[in-house]
Amino acid sequence: MRLPLLLLLLNAAFGSAHHWFNWQYEVGCESDTFIAPADEAGVASFLKKEFPKQSLIKVVGNGHGFGNLTTCISKGATNRTSHIVSLTNLKKLEIHKDNTITVGAGWDVYDLINELKKHSLSFNYLGAMRVQNIVGAISTGTHGTGQKIANMATQVVALRVLDARGETRIVDEHKNAEELKAFRINLGALGLITEVTLKVQPTHFLKKTTKVLNATTDYKKLYTELADLYKEHDRMTVWGPHFDWDAKAQNWTIEPTFYASWWEPTNYTSVRNCTLNYCANGCGDCIKDYICYDETSDAVSCPPQGICSSQFYAEIEHFFPMEHFVDVATNYTNFQQAQTPRMKGFENDKMIFQFRALKGDDSYMSPANTYNLGSENSGVFGVLEIDWMQKVNHWGTLYNNQEFTNEFHDEFATLYNARSHWNKMAPSDPKHALSAFPKLPEFLKIQERQDPNCQFTNEFLVNQLGIERCRSALKL
Ligand SMILES: Cc1cc2nc3c(=O)[nH]c(=O)nc-3n(C[C@H](O)[C@H](O)[C@H](O)COP(=O)(O)OP(=O)(O)OC[C@H]3O[C@@H](n4cnc5c(N)ncnc54)[C@H](O)[C@@H]3O)c2cc1C
Repeated sequence: MRLPLLLLLLNAAFGSAHHWFNWQYEVGCESDTFIAPADEAGVASFLKKEFPKQSLIKVVGNGHGFGNLTTCISKGATNRTSHIVSLTNLKKLEIHKDNTITVGAGWDVYDLINELKKHSLSFNYLGAMRVQNIVGAISTGTHGTGQKIANMATQVVALRVLDARGETRIVDEHKNAEELKAFRINLGALGLITEVTLKVQPTHFLKKTTKVLNATTDYKKLYTELADLYKEHDRMTVWGPHFDWDAKAQNWTIEPTFYASWWEPTNYTSVRNCTLNYCANGCGDCIKDYICYDETSDAVSCPPQGICSSQFYAEIEHFFPMEHFVDVATNYTNFQQAQTPRMKGFENDKMIFQFRALKGDDSYMSPANTYNLGSENSGVFGVLEIDWMQKVNHWGTLYNNQEFTNEFHDEFATLYNARSHWNKMAPSDPKHALSAFPKLPEFLKIQERQDPNCQFTNEFLVNQLGIERCRSALKL
């Protein structure tokens, strides 16, 4: 998690160009400088100095994504100076009496969980892992699973953000509730967030039940059974079906079993034992029936050692109205199977489907925003993820698998009102973005106010959101 930052710091020390990489090093760029201000005043004076020069500024968290959100415009690509900014030094922590906390943008989720435990507090909602920076996680709508559980950003009740001029703005659910809907999931495009106030909860236990399920290539049957299981368990993740690459046949073979885990409230208070046997991302010795109990954050999200594969992997994640669950799951799986002949000759190892559910919300740029849903929709989203893992780190295999991600979008986005996770290979399609994110025009107005000279945007944001005013400014 800290290696990209370490590389940047080393570069800073030796005065060379500054290389930024995401967590698995396939996304990167080269800026002129790496800046880590000591405090909010330092951030403001940096921005004030750079505003007249129209310098390019990319604020980053921990780079724990599969996409280009944190990619800077490389030095030399324009006549502007390019900076990477990390707010890692902003470590304020205030615990309020009303079960909210105010944290500086420097906190990582992992450290924050440990710190909160000392005060008998915990997060309501988390992703499956906890390696993100807190603002990085919020800014892309990081989520776990649950039909009554929304993404982490919904827990934000206020934040402080600095615009390109270095002016501070306080966005608060009481004073400017509508604007907060734009800032919760901001994609780093609305300024540098220096602190957030968010809801937390007193620590309590959850019971986690893991059950082995039988797989079949009759996908309609398989996914109808899963849809039925979602009727019984509102907070459930399905890890599977799993496929193994048969090198001889050059084809995927479905594993006979896979598993689902669901979480429920419990009055258990004895030994905590989920972290002893935590299986994440469908890897490890996880396909077995078991029950464990743990404090919420430890029951639903895994510590860094839960990352089970050190090899490259490609991943897509699409959100779609839950009513389409069986059709989406069946058709995405069939579509993937049709891609398999183009995977021959590559270093494939495993392919894992993963399903979650997520309560919709009203953040303008939330992939689970409910703005264009009809009365036939419950407001709950299904979440489908496909992971392609490889035997060894092989660039050709990674790029080949990444190519397939766009094809799912082209085939299904309009059909199923599907939206991609912003940090998981989201393909560029501004027309679809406008229909799936009806509040995009309002978001772009705020973006222009916060960043009149396109200092915070990059190629990914310009293409994704259709920020045409920034295209020539960034020489795209
Ligand atoms: C293996 C793996 C598993 C994952 N599992 C999940 C999961 O279970 N659920 C899920 O939803 N996602 C998941 N993700 C995605 C991940 O949670 C998100 O991509 C998250 O945004 C990463 O956080 P980060 O700190 O690394 O942010 P970064 O990728 O560094 O940044 C994300 C965005 O936040 C912006 N940003 C960062 N700091 C600031 C700031 N101070 N002010 C303004 N903008 C800022 C950046 O500019 C960027 O746009 C997973 C990713 C990986 C690689």
